[in-house]
Amino acid sequence: MAEPKKKTSKANTRSRRHQIKMTKPAMIYCEKCHQPKLRHHVCGICGTYKNKVVLATQEVVEEK
Ligand SMILES: [Zn+2]
Repeated sequence: MAEPKKKTSKANTRSRRHQIKMTKPAMIYCEKCHQPKLRHHVCGICGTYKNKVVLATQEVVEEK
C-alpha cells in the first residue's frame, strides 16, 4: 500500500482544515404557517408539504 513520504506538519493540517466550514441550512418559510422550515422537508409545525397535510402534528391531533 502507498505510504506518505513525510509526516504532514501541524501547520499544514490546520491550514488545510481552516477552509472547512459549516454552511447555513437552506431555510425557507412555510407557505401555510409562515414559520421557517428546511427546504424540501415537511413543515414540523403544521405537517404540510406543498400545501398538502402529510403528517399528523400536535395541532392536527388536538383539532380532532
Ligand atoms: Zn407550516
